[in-house]
Amino acid sequence: MRTCVSIVDSRPEDALRSAMLAEEKGADMVELRFDLMSPLPTQLGGFSAVRIPRVATLRLAAQGGKYTGSEKDRLAFFQAAMKAGFHLIDLESASSLWERREKELRGAHLICSYHDFEKTPRAGAILEMMVKASSREAIPKAAFQVNGVGDLLSIIDAARMFSATGKEFVLIGMGELGEVTRVCADRIGCAFTYASLEKGKEAAPGQLDLESMRRLKEERFITGIIGHPLSHSLSPAMHNSAFLAAGVSGRYLAFPVKPEELEIFLQVAVELDLKGFNVTIPHKESIIPLLDRLDATAELVGAVNTVVLEEGDAVGHNTDAHGVAMTFKEHGLEVKGKKALVLGAGGAAKAACAALAGQGARIAIHNRTMPKAESLAKRFKNAHAVTLQDAQRESFDLVINCTPLGMKGFPDELPISPAVFHAGQFVMDTIYNPPSTRFLQEAQKRGARTANGETMLLHQALRSFEIWTGKVPPTEPMARALREGLA
Ligand code: NAP
Repeated sequence: MRTCVSIVDSRPEDALRSAMLAEEKGADMVELRFDLMSPLPTQLGGFSAVRIPRVATLRLAAQGGKYTGSEKDRLAFFQAAMKAGFHLIDLESASSLWERREKELRGAHLICSYHDFEKTPRAGAILEMMVKASSREAIPKAAFQVNGVGDLLSIIDAARMFSATGKEFVLIGMGELGEVTRVCADRIGCAFTYASLEKGKEAAPGQLDLESMRRLKEERFITGIIGHPLSHSLSPAMHNSAFLAAGVSGRYLAFPVKPEELEIFLQVAVELDLKGFNVTIPHKESIIPLLDRLDATAELVGAVNTVVLEEGDAVGHNTDAHGVAMTFKEHGLEVKGKKALVLGAGGAAKAACAALAGQGARIAIHNRTMPKAESLAKRFKNAHAVTLQDAQRESFDLVINCTPLGMKGFPDELPISPAVFHAGQFVMDTIYNPPSTRFLQEAQKRGARTANGETMLLHQALRSFEIWTGKVPPTEPMARALREGLA
């Protein structure tokens, strides 16, 4: 994928140094953002020390730049840039300079750019803009703020339609959801895409650094996590560390997808040839009818947290159950024949039940909505639903909290009386943030052995990595990213 590094330094001498560094680090092109430089250099000859194609940009404030001078001065600057051997000039589609192009910018290779930092228009409107830009004998370049999955589809559709012309173009989605258009730019037919020289020097929201872009080979694993809201997810840091450590060309992104966008997201994922994605609240169950198949564990659990896209088929897996089973294993816990109490009846509870049932435990399930506990109990051997009162009267070898009570942002309440805890018991909280919940503290006070949700989180992620890449997952880098994310 051809990458153009946007140089955003404010001092011209620093900008030149950065552009040379970008060339050294393997950039295919550099864009000099002269509108960000102060003072605006008058002598541009020095920039010819950069041998890769150079783009001269003097963007107007109305288009997200900082240039506030006159169009007359801008024209003079572009003429100087042409003389100094700049290969391309970026001119906004609304500029009045287009009318003077024939006479005063004759021979210039132009990018006709358009930026909307608020929204993405429909595909038809994007296409119209691109066709108009292309009729000016320029490379159409448009960047839009992506506010929803439908916006991604508009960008992809417009790109597909314009690709039929065989002409070069660049289309970019800005913001968190738009990042995928940058790492899949070639997949939608873009001639090149933009990157920052390094982290912290981004010219636009969602822009990746050159090193990350360079790591993306032709064959790459683009995955991510869908959920809503997603702000707390540690998965991107964990998986990107794993990709790096295992030498896998890949990128794991965050996709904030609302329930009503789920179906369109699957369409986008297939269009962009994503390898798959993780699924979190609130989509773990609602995604099932949209998938082609489930693996045996996902079928048993009735919830999906990992999707693999292969040859047009979407296959659902559940690696949460493996995460729970690994928590038992790491604590040397033998659950066969033991009495377990599961609190909650959502995705985590289903995974806990699958892990427990798979190892022959006897399961009692309590949920504040009892019919959900009853229907969950029907799915598993040796499982039954219990009321809170009954659960509090019984004695259990294992207690697992699968409700969000105690999680950051949720009420710091106990899902059950602490009187159920006792010495010799194993108590697990699926929550990992905070690492020590009141639930675990109360259990520890009464002599129980405890585990939080970290091991579960780590192992579900390791298994997802393995499913997507077919490689042995690198445990330590993922665990480190998890610890750092929680610190
Ligand atoms: P979910 O599918 O939405 O289920 C939530 C469950 O908690 C439901 O049974 C719900 O009861 C119950 N619940 C919600 N609020 C409650 C309250 N105020 N009082 C009592 N019960 C309440 O969510 P989930 O995916 O299972 O997640 C649940 C917890 O597991 C979260 O804390 C999450 O962080 C954790 N988790 C951890 C991992 C990991 O890897 N460590 C993985 C997945 C989930 P109703 O049925 O009555 O709504």
